[in-house]
Amino acid sequence: MEIVAATNNAGKLKELRRILEPMGYTLLTPADLGLNLDPEETGTTFEANALIKAEAFCKAAGKPVIADDSGLTVEALDGAPGVYSARYCGRHGDDEANNVKLLAELEDLEPDKRSACFVSAVCFCLPDGRHFTYMGRCPGWVGLEPVGENGFGYDPIFIPDEVGTADGKCLPNEENRSYAQLQDWEKDAISHRGRALRLMQAKLADDLAVKA
Ligand code: IMP
Repeated sequence: MEIVAATNNAGKLKELRRILEPMGYTLLTPADLGLNLDPEETGTTFEANALIKAEAFCKAAGKPVIADDSGLTVEALDGAPGVYSARYCGRHGDDEANNVKLLAELEDLEPDKRSACFVSAVCFCLPDGRHFTYMGRCPGWVGLEPVGENGFGYDPIFIPDEVGTADGKCLPNEENRSYAQLQDWEKDAISHRGRALRLMQAKLADDLAVKA
């Protein structure tokens, strides 16, 4: 099935492509369709913002769409940056400044007080108006400094509790490697996005049949 990814974020797009294509989807980007769209994310939950993006791109493209709204929730900050993860530093999409700000907010906290969870809401939306949302979570903690070169966003400062193996299993992250130190498959098997997309894969056909 051809599906439009409702995002302009290159890092997210790369992950959506590498997880969705082996599931049988052909991913189209907004650029492929000549779409220049940046819907305002006015929701206060990941689910609400995923739906806003999915519906806006679906209306513009007239094709099935998948939207991911995601972010990092930090326990010591009452869930911040949460839905504001992309613009935590005050500007949209400045990953480095977001990381600097988050590390500063947690400056005096020991590792056991730095618990955090990445959350992804994936919304699948059809031109006939039907939409379904699937959640994925990845628990871990915020590291003391940025480490690693892979990925995007908060990857260098997020230490997941588990890492994945090449055959999709999960093992404890005994070496405390950051998301940015993981190989693609090590991240995808345990990541918030990987979990939400696999849940979608498991449930979508039944959900579509019920709401035909
Ligand atoms: P949005 O879903 O486009 O509103 O933005 C999500 C923001 O959360 C991104 O800009 C990143 O800062 C952060 N984020 C979401 N998923 C990841 C991830 O897998 N790694 C690192 N940062 C992420």
